[in-house]
Amino acid sequence: MNYTPENSQILFTEEQIQSRIEELGKKITNDFAGKSLTMLVVLKGSFIFASDLARHIKLPMNIEFIGLRSYGDRISSSGVVEITMDLKHPIKDEEVLIVEDIVDTGLTIDYLIKNLKTRAPKNIYLASLLHKKEMTKLPVKIDYLGFEVPDKFVVGYGLDHAGKYRNLPFITHIL
Ligand code: 5GP
Repeated sequence: MNYTPENSQILFTEEQIQSRIEELGKKITNDFAGKSLTMLVVLKGSFIFASDLARHIKLPMNIEFIGLRSYGDRISSSGVVEITMDLKHPIKDEEVLIVEDIVDTGLTIDYLIKNLKTRAPKNIYLASLLHKKEMTKLPVKIDYLGFEVPDKFVVGYGLDHAGKYRNLPFITHIL
């Protein structure tokens, strides 16, 4: 699967993504005003989304990172998740905003939320750039959603295929 402009169908342009993120940032800024917020960036896929979103959140928040690897293919996501890099600071009593690239079956985020709950944060919220509603196996509440996407494999803006295409500034489906 190789990206070329000819074999790709852009789902969201750079302008559409940036404008949606600005809206989400404003909403998050209002919702968390006066609270102690920790943004938890799920690596690797959400690093670009998170860095743009963070700059639209006008609050003195902490930014932490966690690395996850999900096993299984897309059709039969196994729900087995490995933490490849853990948090470096406690999140006890914090308002935690998880930042994900995409919620597909929901298995990965369900695992992460269950794991984080054992660390006694005050509340856990979820921001996800993309959601594939029709693939849901475990329903997950997405508090701040960028866009719904059809069940197509997408790359760009942080999302990869075999490690590549994360740096495309738009989100595209490779035909
Ligand atoms: P879930 O556990 O919700 O099924 O899958 C979540 C993970 O699967 C995402 O964090 C992402 O790494 C990967 N994933 C699911 N759909 C896509 C897709 O269309 N494109 C890419 N690049 N990764 C995807």
